[in-house]
Amino acid sequence: MKAVAIRPGQKNSVFMQEIEKPEVVPGQLLIRVLETGICGTDLEIINGDFGTAPSGADFLVLGHESFGRVEAVSPGLENSGWQPGDYVVCTVRRPCHDHDPNCDSGHSDMCLTGNYTERGIKDQHGFMTEFYSEYPDFAIKVPASYRPWGVLLEPTAVVEKAIYQSYKIQERLDFEPKRAVVLGAGPIGLLATFLLRDRGLETFTIAHSLGGPTNPKAVLTERVGATYLSSQEVEVEHLDKMLGNIDIIIEASGSSEIVFQGMAALGPNGVMSITGVEGGHNSLAIDANRLNHQLVMGNQVVFGSVNANRRYFEMGVESWGSLEKKWPGALSSMITRRLPIEDFQTAFGRDRNNIKTVLQIGAE
Ligand SMILES: [Zn+2]
Repeated sequence: MKAVAIRPGQKNSVFMQEIEKPEVVPGQLLIRVLETGICGTDLEIINGDFGTAPSGADFLVLGHESFGRVEAVSPGLENSGWQPGDYVVCTVRRPCHDHDPNCDSGHSDMCLTGNYTERGIKDQHGFMTEFYSEYPDFAIKVPASYRPWGVLLEPTAVVEKAIYQSYKIQERLDFEPKRAVVLGAGPIGLLATFLLRDRGLETFTIAHSLGGPTNPKAVLTERVGATYLSSQEVEVEHLDKMLGNIDIIIEASGSSEIVFQGMAALGPNGVMSITGVEGGHNSLAIDANRLNHQLVMGNQVVFGSVNANRRYFEMGVESWGSLEKKWPGALSSMITRRLPIEDFQTAFGRDRNNIKTVLQIGAE
């Protein structure tokens, strides 16, 4: 069967690899992949920045944003609640086996040892192929009516985690956030915008491109009642002067410079979650005294958030119900390109007005 793979560490080595169709493994679900989403992480792996092959393999099958259908349920799982035909998304990270209390309790997103593995990223083949086999512990059922945007569950889960953790951290005080800022309007930034609006926050989403009716990211932002701002027209580090106190910042710009500019705009008792990373090296001149002063005097918290365990995937499915009711079609209109797996080279190309590209793999 077909798989899209790379040679780890080799720049632009993406190719189509023939691999064997998996057996029905006892205790596992055999899953037919319908679609996989493409994100910045895939592009960084293709760029050779990271990504490692499973032991014994000299290639890594890409893909960590999946959507599929259960093809077969192995013997022993008759009463597991899974049936052939169920729509399914699997989580990305698998726990380490090093007596790590976080991994042992299902929170491998908070792994202490770094010895976790990740589908399509680190030591495990991904979902950019026709079939895969997985334990139900890592599989989340998706209602059939969510099929049009089901492939967005992994990025939704990543955002659910960042927002949940922000609120959890803020249990340190009587937290009644009113205003949120999202830095970046890629899929993560837009999903954060949706979820913050769903919680009723006044939300401002800032990205580089100018707004207006020809910018689909700006259109979607305004659709859910948030305000789109271009960093060509506003200064991120002075957003607070323009908007008033900022209670929550979700950073998803992929720019370390924007991270520090965002920190400077955070309000009193504010919390900022950083979800993006920038590769390579970047030396910046920052006013360290000012940031130090502001963090202390403002009781501020700035934290990083990566990956998502199954509870965040389940939260994502919950939130979708509410989002779709409030803004029908907003989620599915995030998918701006669907290409057959054979067109993977085109799919990995950047396109300014594109939001989410999805590879179509299996037919139903
Ligand atoms: Zn661990």
